[in-house]
Amino acid sequence: MTDLTSLTIAEARQGLANKAFTARELTDAHLKAMEAARLLNAYVLETPDRAREMARAADEAIAKGEGGPLAGIPLGIKDLFATRDIRTTACSRILGNFIPSYESTITSQLWRDGAVLLGKLNNDEFAMGSSNETSCFGPVANPWRRAGSNTDLVPGGSSGGSASAVAAMLCMGATATDTGGSIRQPAAFTATVGIKPTYGRCSRWGIVAFASSLDQAGPIARSVRDAAILMRSMAGHDPKDTTSADVPVPDYEAAIGKSVKGMRIGIPREYRLDGMPGEIEKLWSEGAEWLKAAGAELVEVSLPHTKYALPAYYIVAPAEASSNLARYDGVRYGLREPARNIIEMYEKTRAEGFGAEVRRRVMIGTYVLSAGYYDAYYLRAQKVRTLIKKDFEDCFAKGVHAILTPATPSAAFGIGEKGGADPVEMYLNDIFTVTVNMAGLPGIAVPAGRDAQDLPLGLQLIGRPFDEETLFSLGAIIEQAAGRFTPARWW
Ligand code: GLN
Repeated sequence: MTDLTSLTIAEARQGLANKAFTARELTDAHLKAMEAARLLNAYVLETPDRAREMARAADEAIAKGEGGPLAGIPLGIKDLFATRDIRTTACSRILGNFIPSYESTITSQLWRDGAVLLGKLNNDEFAMGSSNETSCFGPVANPWRRAGSNTDLVPGGSSGGSASAVAAMLCMGATATDTGGSIRQPAAFTATVGIKPTYGRCSRWGIVAFASSLDQAGPIARSVRDAAILMRSMAGHDPKDTTSADVPVPDYEAAIGKSVKGMRIGIPREYRLDGMPGEIEKLWSEGAEWLKAAGAELVEVSLPHTKYALPAYYIVAPAEASSNLARYDGVRYGLREPARNIIEMYEKTRAEGFGAEVRRRVMIGTYVLSAGYYDAYYLRAQKVRTLIKKDFEDCFAKGVHAILTPATPSAAFGIGEKGGADPVEMYLNDIFTVTVNMAGLPGIAVPAGRDAQDLPLGLQLIGRPFDEETLFSLGAIIEQAAGRFTPARWW
């Protein structure tokens, strides 16, 4: 029997239905792989007892013919999702040993459908970062390494644990969140598939908030089909989230293999950056050719406000973060530093509990929202945001079905290599992904090739609101042309 951890979700579903193996065996294989891969630091908490109990329940349900669409499928959960009775920290010291008494809507939908919880996955503190280096649990290693090198690379961020665990086969799929690129960039760095759905598609209830108008959850998986399977369980209207959209959830899997003949694919000229590596340029044109060969029509489009997206994002996101993070005051959750009076307690707790990047964001956010600066920064950034959204609307109004871009400006980099002296160097990772959050659109990252050092690179497809199906159809074509690739095991 092949190693059960190397199966896709679609294959495992088949194997479970055919009784080729049990959910318990599938879960045990993953728990063993996790134990052997602790060097990667992908999990911040393993939940083997819970996993075995859930697998046993899945086996029973399957035997009775009552298994849900994810019966017995072992998953990892980003530590930003509240899990009842299981420590949830957002990888911040300030949450300490916080144990929620409630379950996020998305995870409860996954358990409703029969999935198995393997553990909680590492991420950048409060999802602020692009390399998973801001986590209070330390960095995550990417299972990919440069050809002939032993240097540990970052898996991207903020969903670094999710991407690393999926790529290293330490779970069959994972939940992730994306505020400016945190699903798509780590997916591109690890040769996994990640989709950020349309804003409002998946409930944010029970997910630790970073920037509420940009945050959106989605899956990371090893194939486009697996991402579609997970999306179906994660998506859906939730009255507990006032920004959740009451739009029917289609069978995303049915979009795979659908013809894309006649679809118009926009190639935005503003995404051709000065000094962009030739390999990224080449990957992008190859991807366009694959879609053309499948019958799509390529059209050059313009998204003129693209260059303002990153600066505007770094006003809007910290502004929202500074108000969301005001709740961590040492009274309600986790850490409390002893002090002589309440003001000192707030100050000491927040200074001790937040890491450097989070403190930077809180300060930027407080500054741009303060009287006298609000109009110059925050209000202006909101206006820019509207223009960015309009760029996309104009493009779709001209009959464009989806837009093809690179997912990231480079492949994975080494741990400690970027952003030490200048945080903007790290922020530039999201140059191709933040626009999508600013506009609330869906975006998928699909592995599409390798660079000269043999590291994976990804392409991004951006879709119309609530048209994730087209992204799955087009993504499947890229996947088929590029093939799927997995890292050589060294851990
Ligand atoms: N890297 C971006 C940031 O640090 C986006 C993070 C995210 O999408 N959560 O804000």
